[in-house]
Amino acid sequence: MARHRAKGSLVDVVDRVDLDRKKAVTAVVAAGALIGAGFTQAMATVTPMDRIVPVAATKNLAAAMTAQPDQGPQTIHSFDTSSETRKLLQAEQIQAQFHVREALKSAEGAYAQRQEAAKAEAARIAAEEEARKPKCVRPAQGTFTSGFGARWGTSHNGVDIANAIGTPIVAAMDGVVVEAGPASGFGLWVRIQHADGTITVYGHMNTIDVPQGAQVKAGQQIATIGNRGESTGPHLHFEVWAAGSQKINPVGWLAERGVSL
Ligand SMILES: [Zn+2]
Repeated sequence: MARHRAKGSLVDVVDRVDLDRKKAVTAVVAAGALIGAGFTQAMATVTPMDRIVPVAATKNLAAAMTAQPDQGPQTIHSFDTSSETRKLLQAEQIQAQFHVREALKSAEGAYAQRQEAAKAEAARIAAEEEARKPKCVRPAQGTFTSGFGARWGTSHNGVDIANAIGTPIVAAMDGVVVEAGPASGFGLWVRIQHADGTITVYGHMNTIDVPQGAQVKAGQQIATIGNRGESTGPHLHFEVWAAGSQKINPVGWLAERGVSL
């Protein structure tokens, strides 16, 4: 709707330019006002070709741009009022056409600027969404049943979170699955290496849901709780290996990242 209104008005501008200088000036001012108001809005809904070609191809505009007054046999110095008026009108036409073209260019510039602004806004939203994603999460829901350290005359190298078989186990942080499969004592395990070199280890699972080599995101399901290996009931055994090898207390490591067990 807006597009038709704007296009019709510009054609109208060209028609009126043919009449006299006052009207031409008024028309150009009107064209500017249209571009400021409705036309730029209309432009956002059409492609550039669609937008410009119909106006330029309008026979009225084409005629106005190419028409030459019939000079006939008159000399340059002959003082003919109608001839002078024609020349004056022709000059005004050229000037008016220039203004119309400038107005169209300006409208196109505004359209391009809006496109750029929209792109920048989309990038900003994407960056914000990325920043909102959790950096570190609890690896499984359930009951914290056993801590890190000495236990039953040996060393318990991780923490246990008990829950029903099949409960999702998720990656604690973004990383790469460096190992996924059988492991002595664990039954099955998954080891994920994170950007700083830390490795998180998940054991006793019932199923493994990611292949070795996979890139995973914090909170992404990697396995389900099971009771495999040296396990006394369905739970996740979770370890943290600092610098890829030093087994540290996962409670402190998670707490530093805003996660409590
Ligand atoms: Zn354990």
